[in-house]
Amino acid sequence: MTHYLNLYLLLLSICSLLLFAACKNEVKLNKSESEGRASVKKDTTSVLSAVLLKKIKAVPDYDTSQWVDLKFMDSTILIDLRYATEDNFVKEKMYECARCFLRPKAAKVILKIHQDLQEKGMGLKLFDCYRPLSIQQRLWDKVPDATYVTNPKKGSMHNRGLAVDLTIVDSSGEELDMGTPFDFFGRKAHHTHTDHTKEVLKNRRLLKSTMEAVGFKSIRTEWWHYSYRYAKYPLADMVWECGVGNQ
Ligand SMILES: [Zn+2]
Repeated sequence: MTHYLNLYLLLLSICSLLLFAACKNEVKLNKSESEGRASVKKDTTSVLSAVLLKKIKAVPDYDTSQWVDLKFMDSTILIDLRYATEDNFVKEKMYECARCFLRPKAAKVILKIHQDLQEKGMGLKLFDCYRPLSIQQRLWDKVPDATYVTNPKKGSMHNRGLAVDLTIVDSSGEELDMGTPFDFFGRKAHHTHTDHTKEVLKNRRLLKSTMEAVGFKSIRTEWWHYSYRYAKYPLADMVWECGVGNQ
């Protein structure tokens, strides 16, 4: 009988030890996961496990009833926001990071254009999208000239999340020749200036006809600027978060 009791006690000890080890492992796993999340906030360049990265990317960190982050919807669309760098006409970084936000209706149309172009071996590249009103104010403070910057008191379609600055790229991501770079302020950037090569005129016509066919309107002085006319939204000052996978 004592022999059986000893055996029973031994089995019980082994079970307890196994249970303890399992719990400890679980705590360790949870700890490393929460540490991983903390490091995302601290350092956006952290190398994360694919699983954790997927978890973060799967949850939008913005109000989806008001906004769409284009890259979030289609990772193949090229985003080159110049105001997130010093490579812009004010030579100063204005956005903390490059995320292209638009109002849902305008975003849906842009994504459709991009996907239609992809079928023809091309795609879109965005230079600017929604621009917070506070950034518009900073631009105005630097360049208070309505020829180049819209007065924030009036606000622009970019501040409403309904305007885009963009171009078309080929299958290798190279920009089509539009005659001038983005944000070139001068007659050569005007739609009405026709002293360009046939190739440039053809490329501009392609961009203009593609955009106008789905409700985007051009302005005479900038070949890259289009605003969506089939939706109305107020001026906004939503400033986006900078996170992993969104820059
Ligand atoms: Zn613009």
